[in-house]
Amino acid sequence: MQPFTFIVAGAGMIGLATAIGLQQAGHRVIVIERGERPEYGSAPELRVSALAHSSRHLLERLGSWQQMPASRLGPYTGMRVWDYDSFGRIEFDASELALADIGAIVENKVLEQVLWDQAVAAGVSIMATTELVQQQVDDQRVQVTLANGQTLTGDYLIAADGARSTVRAQANLPLTFWDYQQQAQVAVLTTELPHQGIARQVFLPTGPLALLPLADAHQVSIVWSADTERAQQLSTLSDSDFIRQLRVASDNCLGLLQLKSARATFPLRMQYCQRWVQQRLLVLGDAAHSIHPLAGQGANLGFADVADLLAIFAHPELQVATLPKQLRQWERQRKAAAVTMIGAMESFKRGFAGSAPWAKLGRGLALQLAHRVTPLKQQLMRAALGA
Ligand SMILES: Cc1cc2nc3c(=O)[nH]c(=O)nc-3n(C[C@H](O)[C@H](O)[C@H](O)COP(=O)(O)OP(=O)(O)OC[C@H]3O[C@@H](n4cnc5c(N)ncnc54)[C@H](O)[C@@H]3O)c2cc1C
Repeated sequence: MQPFTFIVAGAGMIGLATAIGLQQAGHRVIVIERGERPEYGSAPELRVSALAHSSRHLLERLGSWQQMPASRLGPYTGMRVWDYDSFGRIEFDASELALADIGAIVENKVLEQVLWDQAVAAGVSIMATTELVQQQVDDQRVQVTLANGQTLTGDYLIAADGARSTVRAQANLPLTFWDYQQQAQVAVLTTELPHQGIARQVFLPTGPLALLPLADAHQVSIVWSADTERAQQLSTLSDSDFIRQLRVASDNCLGLLQLKSARATFPLRMQYCQRWVQQRLLVLGDAAHSIHPLAGQGANLGFADVADLLAIFAHPELQVATLPKQLRQWERQRKAAAVTMIGAMESFKRGFAGSAPWAKLGRGLALQLAHRVTPLKQQLMRAALGA
């Protein structure tokens, strides 16, 4: 196999997982990261991701999952999803599929630090606190210039530089986007009642609220997505008023709540890059797609991009002659998966919006049906697992 030199822009979880996999397969990898090495603190970090089994399996194959501190992993064994405004409710339990859990809540910074250290130990060269400012890509090679003036050359450039990817912008790749006209407020809270390893999500007329179980039986991370006006109103509330409204919105399902972190707000926007392969440039993760967090699938989609790309470049019989065809196929398949997910998020978001009586009735019936019809419910569960 011919080893390549890859330049990866971005040391988020997707760029780092890609880098580790490529390096382990015998390639040479240089990662360029604008920020510093992530370092998590003793308190739970604000940003978390619900990772499906498919993502965990990739991270296990890379040897990263095994290095995650158990005290910072929140495996969840059940999901409770309900409509605030109707009788609709659906419950999933891992035991229904004879599994130990449905997925795990990981703190982004913890995973990023683990991946960063593993990448360095594997021999990946990480150039931090500088950024990629210029790129030249043709059919044979890539050349990039960094903010510190250094120039690097390689065989492939990978854009894993997130939703605001400058690599994607510099390559003029066409982007489809729309504003979800919602913002997500995130925070960590302690709860009076134990969360029992259950991920909860309530669909309010103004948007979904998720309460995700952390490793501590009395700590949850919330993602409260709301229409812009409501979100702005929420962000101006004092902590005590916010908690009061949160308890009402969550049907008081976890008893008394206490804030353990600051509250942060993220604007929500759908983005979909229409070209993921252009000559020797490859785009993946949030640089290629970003979606509404309501089903917690953004990072999972990114890890699936990585897994399928590694299946090509880490294949023991990698054939240079067939690479362009394989990469086009990778692009087609991953784009189809992203488009399906974007469509599903839109249906959920629209389906649960508003409080017209017919809409409430429809939602209630749909959820009850999904809950009672075993094959349909199992199909939904498999989708949540990333299977
Ligand atoms: C509120 C919220 C909740 C979410 N919950 C979930 C969930 O439960 N489950 C799930 O699967 N997903 C979830 N997501 C999505 C998930 O967070 C993202 O999909 C994931 O973090 C994307 O990772 P990434 O590595 O592609 O990009 P990023 O994490 O954005 O990493 C990009 C990196 O590139 C660096 N960079 C940028 N530009 C340059 C440059 N020019 N040169 C060098 N470096 C550069 C940045 O500093 C950054 O480190 C959620 C998202 C939000 C907003």
